[in-house]
Order: sequence, then C-alpha cells, then structure tokens
Amino acid sequence: MASASNSAPICWPASADLTPVSEAGRPADRDGPLVVVLSGPGGAGKGTIARSLAAADDSISLSVSWTSRDRRADDDDDAYVFVDRAAFETRRDTGGFIEWNEFLGCYYGTPVPSAADGSVLLLEIDVAGGRQVLRADPDVLCLFVDVPDNDELRRRLIDRGDGAERADARIIEATRERAEAADLGYLTVVNDDLDRVVHEVASLIATRLTPKSPY
Ligand code: 5GP
Repeated sequence: MASASNSAPICWPASADLTPVSEAGRPADRDGPLVVVLSGPGGAGKGTIARSLAAADDSISLSVSWTSRDRRADDDDDAYVFVDRAAFETRRDTGGFIEWNEFLGCYYGTPVPSAADGSVLLLEIDVAGGRQVLRADPDVLCLFVDVPDNDELRRRLIDRGDGAERADARIIEATRERAEAADLGYLTVVNDDLDRVVHEVASLIATRLTPKSPY
C-alpha cells in the first residue's frame, strides 16, 4: 500500500496519461477557477494528492491556508502560513478568508483567492470548511479522501508524529466527518494506492471541466 505521509516525495506516476486541465475545456458559464475541495482525515494523503496534481499541471494551484497550530516536524515549509491566534483573528475579522474553522483548538482558514490562481484551485480543508464553500458556490467539486480503515489511519497518524491521544481524537473526528461529508454530497475516494487515487482525482476534475453537451 502506498504511503500517504505528507512528507512523501512529489512525483507524478510513471504511468500517468492525463489530459492537462488547459486542454479539457471549461464550462461556458464559468469564470474564475474551478474550486476543488479535498477533505478527509489527516494522514489520508490529501496533501500528497494535491501536490502531485499541481506538480503535473500548471493550471492547477494549491491554496495555502493560515493556521494557528504549531508547526509539526513533517510540515513542508509552505504547508501553511503559521500565525498566532491574534493575527488569524485580525485577518478573519477583516474578511480575509473565504472560510475558516477551529479544529482541535486551532484556527484554520482559506485566504480569499487571488487573480493569480490557475484554472483549478485545490483547497485542502475540513468538511466544516467545505460546507461554507459549498454554501457560497454549489458548483465546487467536493472530494472526501479516506483511508481503507481506522486501524490504517491510526498507524499513519502515529507514523507522522501525532501522539496517541491526538490520533484518537482525530479518529473520532474522522468518523463524524465521514457522515457529514456524505450528507453534503461529497464524492469519496479511498487512498489505498497513491498512483491510483491521483489518477482518480485527476479524472474527476477533468470530467467536471468538460463542457456538458446541450443535447
Ligand atoms: P492538520 O493539523 O492535520 O494540518 O489539519 C487539521 C485539519 O484542518 C485537516 O482536516 C485539514 O484538512 C483542515 N484544514 C487545513 N486547512 C484548513 C482551512 O483552511 N480551513 C479549514 N476549514 N480546514 C482546514
């Protein structure tokens, strides 16, 4: 089974044969990027999938969230904009986020997209954030990236440096989020193999970008 750790190297699967977004066409009635929400438990591999997609296609960009949580050992330098609670609250209160949430005692928020974002903007956020984004734009593609089972999730969380207590809290949260995501109409993709799931997500994005026939 492929590792889904955030520290996994970004590499496009050798067997990749994907149509770049720029060639997939865009729905005629859309301006601005297609927003794709990736939610799912920490350790499920959302970040690795998102970085693989962005590395393979210049039209795909990643939104970098702000957080008040401490940096973890396995965080890439650009994983988040790390700020204290006061700085987060200042930006939040001046309309600087399209959504935000407090998760296990820490703030997380998505900055308002800029004109520099590509045709597809990937948001790696929790389901509460996905709900807020869906409310603003029902057209967003919401994907729940899951693990094969909770034993595997626990192993991945411990491997990447979460203590046992935080891992247990995340598993409880994951169970709640699965139900909420299903309720909101998220599509679920299971990260049982990194290459396979990256292809699956790329193909879901390409399908969403393909203009529908009027007939
Ligand atoms: P972690 O601490 O593992 O990096 O992230 C914890 C949770 O916060 C994950 O479910 C992650 O998807 C979520 N998250 C990360 N950034 C954002 C954000 O900008 N907004 C929201 N609502 N959730 C976020």
